[in-house]
Amino acid sequence: MTDTGTDTAETLLARTPTDLYIDGRWRASASGARFDVVNPADGEVIARVADAVPADGAAALDAAVAAAAGWAATAPRDRAEILRRAFELVREREEELALLMTLEMGKPLAEARGEVGYGGEFLRWFSEEAVRIGGRYGATPEGTGTMVVSQHPVGPCYLITPWNFPLAMATRKVAPALAAGNTVVIKPAALTPLTTLALARILAEAGLPAGVLNVVTTTDTAAVSDPLIADPRLRKLSFTGSTPVGRTLLAQAAGTVLRTSMELGGNAPFLVFADADLDAAVEGALQAKFRNIGQACTAANRFLVHEDVADEFARRVTERVRGLPLGDGRKDGTVIGPLIDHRAVEKASALVADAVERGASLLTGGSVVPGPGSFFEATVLDHVRPGSRVLREEIFGPVLAIARFGDEDEAVRLANDTEYGLAAYAFTRDLARGHRLIERLESGMLGLNAGVISNAAAPFGGVKQSGLGREGSREGIQEYLTTKYSFIPAASGS
Ligand code: NAD
Repeated sequence: MTDTGTDTAETLLARTPTDLYIDGRWRASASGARFDVVNPADGEVIARVADAVPADGAAALDAAVAAAAGWAATAPRDRAEILRRAFELVREREEELALLMTLEMGKPLAEARGEVGYGGEFLRWFSEEAVRIGGRYGATPEGTGTMVVSQHPVGPCYLITPWNFPLAMATRKVAPALAAGNTVVIKPAALTPLTTLALARILAEAGLPAGVLNVVTTTDTAAVSDPLIADPRLRKLSFTGSTPVGRTLLAQAAGTVLRTSMELGGNAPFLVFADADLDAAVEGALQAKFRNIGQACTAANRFLVHEDVADEFARRVTERVRGLPLGDGRKDGTVIGPLIDHRAVEKASALVADAVERGASLLTGGSVVPGPGSFFEATVLDHVRPGSRVLREEIFGPVLAIARFGDEDEAVRLANDTEYGLAAYAFTRDLARGHRLIERLESGMLGLNAGVISNAAAPFGGVKQSGLGREGSREGIQEYLTTKYSFIPAASGS
């Protein structure tokens, strides 16, 4: 496969793998079944992908277990070089990976290119971390001997990813897991399996040995996943997805006291204080709300604006939102692509109807766009009343909901009034307030006068019911390492 940069959708899809990748081989599922992958922009079937059954999941775990000792014993530098080569290949194939994501998920091409950059960075970052897995060595306080603290691969990992960032959610798990010396089975969302299959091929081309990475695509998720999670040979479960599924998986993981990382849902507050630079706040709002058509766990969900500037903020934001081009993500300039499916459209529609019923004013949008494709208009709601679903639930769509606050204490109380705690955003020119907000906001991440915060070098993750653990940064590789302490008495060997 080469990067032509001029692929048509047809030629790209014709050479994108659609089989399972197990033990270094591409193969159909044991049942022979396949499922459709649909382009949400037009409802067309773009691929038919192998639909794994439990026997395939078992074969994938068998392969990961068989390859584990060999991979753990490879030199960190060798692991680093494979990841680095994969990073280079991802960068070379930016256009085709971007187009693949736009086709299977719907995001605008420009954003898909941005995701190729962001997703690729995890391969580069963790290629660099692979050679920096350290330990400690020191005397006991009593001088009775030496304590050695070493770090080791945790063991075979099961990685489950969502559909909204098909490349980045995969590399954010795969890269640190492999860098740390682990083998993996990865299960992408059935809505967007193609990007993960393309990534598997890239890693194979980069020199990853057979069995180290295995990909299982399936529509029968629980039937395939449950036995893997219950298998005592599995040592780590890393999940990105919704909080309800995360809760279920945590309960299942208890059965074998399985180590887990959970990147779950969010309900990010976006605070605009009276002293904010309103131009910057409006720009940040558009980024934090409409990136990925609102389908991001970090998406701003609740715009909490000081009552003195709320009218002006609402006016300016509405003006900008009215001009956002809606359409197929492949069309130049598109900002509002389709939502992932019709269920997502129905949810956005129901949330807007609920808010309006409870007294919110609809400033723009609010309607389902007739098909083909699953589109919902970019929407602004103002004066959203407490108790509205749009303030409590993850919207996961292009709906910007504004409510008001009177002072900082009320802003913080409202912001923290949620079971989630992933991202938060705050716009203020007051440095002291900014510092107070770092202390007071219950979130794993905070954008201070910023609408975009993700970076491969930053620890990504949430508090409360937004999850456990961190991805990216130095913390990211720790999720895939286990710590061992050894004691050597002073007299030993003498
Ligand atoms: P989802 O929870 O429905 O599915 C996520 C993945 O879990 C998919 O691969 C799905 O097939 C799988 N899954 C579903 N039920 C399962 C089960 N019983 N056993 C094993 N696997 C199962 O989420 P989604 O709709 O794909 O993604 C959207 C959600 O993901 C949102 O809540 C969003 O906030 C969250 N998300 C979080 C982060 C983060 O880093 N915190 C990043 C992206 C998305």
